[in-house]
Amino acid sequence: MSFVVSNRLSLLPPYVFVELDRLKQQAIERGEDIINLGIGDPDQPTPPIIIEALAEAAKVGENHRYPSGIGMPDFRKEVAAYYQRRHGVDFNPATEIMSLIGSKEGIGHLPLAFVNPGDVVLVPEPGYPVYNSSTIFAGGEPYPMPLTQENAFLPDLEAIPEAVYARTRLMFLNYPNNPTAAFATRDFFERVIAKARKHGFIVAHDAAYLDVSFGGRKALSFMEVPGAREVGIELHSLSKTFNMTGWRVGFAVGNPEVIAGLASLKANLDSGVFNAVQRAGIAALRNFDAVVPAINQTYETRLKAFSNGVAELGWTDYREPQGSFYVWLRTRNGLSSTDMTRELLQKCAVVTTPGNAFGAAGEGYFRIALTAKAERILEACQRMKKAGF
Ligand SMILES: *Cc1c(COP(=O)(O)O)cnc(C)c1O
Repeated sequence: MSFVVSNRLSLLPPYVFVELDRLKQQAIERGEDIINLGIGDPDQPTPPIIIEALAEAAKVGENHRYPSGIGMPDFRKEVAAYYQRRHGVDFNPATEIMSLIGSKEGIGHLPLAFVNPGDVVLVPEPGYPVYNSSTIFAGGEPYPMPLTQENAFLPDLEAIPEAVYARTRLMFLNYPNNPTAAFATRDFFERVIAKARKHGFIVAHDAAYLDVSFGGRKALSFMEVPGAREVGIELHSLSKTFNMTGWRVGFAVGNPEVIAGLASLKANLDSGVFNAVQRAGIAALRNFDAVVPAINQTYETRLKAFSNGVAELGWTDYREPQGSFYVWLRTRNGLSSTDMTRELLQKCAVVTTPGNAFGAAGEGYFRIALTAKAERILEACQRMKKAGF
């Protein structure tokens, strides 16, 4: 017998990080001293205060049962308190906040709740690959919105034809942006809201890096902009902010109809986040000021190391990013994204991510993640210099 995967699964491009992992694995097997600046997964452990909260909550019997699909009331209240404190926005925890098994899960399921076959979903490119795959799973048509350096890595909303807007059901956005590290402006979000109102589509803002920034900068939450709640939601997560990628806890906030639709879809698929993990999430949000500045300081130190390294390399087009933990760079020596990444792996034993892994509009770029120690980042730059980059 043979079992062929569904059409919808076979329509997807290969998940690029799997490919990258295989190449890296081969280099490790050859015994090379790999410096991994590839996958965006914090290398630092979760702060102890959060781990202790999990350990305590794990002992409580009532936490061993099925959680509420939309999250414990206490967790949703803590998310509300975070948004009020940090972004000055009030949400009703009963109707405007829900838990997610990480923001990826919410992104993956949202189109299934709102997109019909043939509907258009506007997707930033380069971008996180899940916007595309979740759209395809729902039978929707991803329509790429190129993010170009000339336009500060914001989509050109006027370049999208009216006929496309007319069929648009959903728009994904992501700021601070992975992979370009760009920030959104208030003016841009205001123009997005105007378009969404005019054409009646949902805006889903992926805010996974909202609290990851350099020099104490504060990125703008989509929800801070008047009108955002009428047109959409923000998907956020503890993963990147608190070094909790393995814990799988995130949340969505905003439009109550969108929250209700996503919750009703999820009620058929999963049973929420382990209560003890939600308790740990509460501890994380409550201790934001005690733990997040130190985490961001670590990235800043690494960014400085990279910037010093780049100064040695003489890459004159280099601009320091303001946030996220990525640096988005033009390839060197006229190489394609794939060749640049392969050469860095083969000549320098440095793992990076090719720009085209985030869609065709990422061609000509590569991404480094500041998820290795400063000494290793500097060492990577020295190896690049020796290799003629
Ligand atoms: C890491 C990441 C996510 C997913 O994070 P979760 O761990 O699922 O919360 C979502 N969007 C972007 C752009 C990311 O880089």
